[in-house]
Amino acid sequence: SGKEIWTREDKYQSSFLVAQDDALDFAVQNSSQNGLPDIAVSPLQGKFLYLISKSIQANRILEVGTLGGYSAIWLSRSLPAKGELVSLELKEEHAKVARENLEKAGADVSARVQIIVGPAHESLAQLKPEPQPFDLAFIDADKSQFTTYYTEAKRLIRSGGVIIIDNMIRRGGVSDPSNMDFNNVKIRELLQLLRDDSEVEATTIGTVGVKSYDGFSYIVKK
Ligand code: SAM
Repeated sequence: SGKEIWTREDKYQSSFLVAQDDALDFAVQNSSQNGLPDIAVSPLQGKFLYLISKSIQANRILEVGTLGGYSAIWLSRSLPAKGELVSLELKEEHAKVARENLEKAGADVSARVQIIVGPAHESLAQLKPEPQPFDLAFIDADKSQFTTYYTEAKRLIRSGGVIIIDNMIRRGGVSDPSNMDFNNVKIRELLQLLRDDSEVEATTIGTVGVKSYDGFSYIVKK
């Protein structure tokens, strides 16, 4: 079936391109043991985020949706010694597991990460682009607030900065007009916002693999 081929292909590509890593393995296991849902980005996607961050030489990264810190480990590792990742998470139980996982990844990795617990729209409202704006934002939390997260991320990043938004395709649900799932409706709204926003340029790249069929939007602020 399609899913078997995607999973096989994903694992095949990873076996060449993503090295075995004790800290990431621990993060996956410890998150699962603590009952966190299995919804972190895949290894290839984590490395993709890491490489984007390196490509733009990010110093400050904003993440919306920490979960167990799997993507946060990748992103923090992309930063220079004095870099900073601010990661927003609603649930204290998730933040606690993320702190454990980040510590396991090393003192340097965890020291660069600040997790702010609370509803992300409230935490975002407190953040400022001064004295240093963010270079990169990764949005991976509740889809119902994607438009708010996008608008806030755009306010907080520098010109030339990048916003990556996960789950933009949702197994085709977004493009199916009969599918009125609230999350899909909100993503359609975000697409209209992106179309009408002259301050950014954006595209969507479909992703297929162990996380089934989905996509990332890649947005650059002019
Ligand atoms: N980025 C993570 C990774 O790849 O390792 C996965 C994040 S998971 C898909 C989404 C997270 O967003 C969950 O931990 C959830 O608790 C959090 N979340 C949901 N609603 C939120 C909100 N209103 N504010 C902040 N975080 C929220």
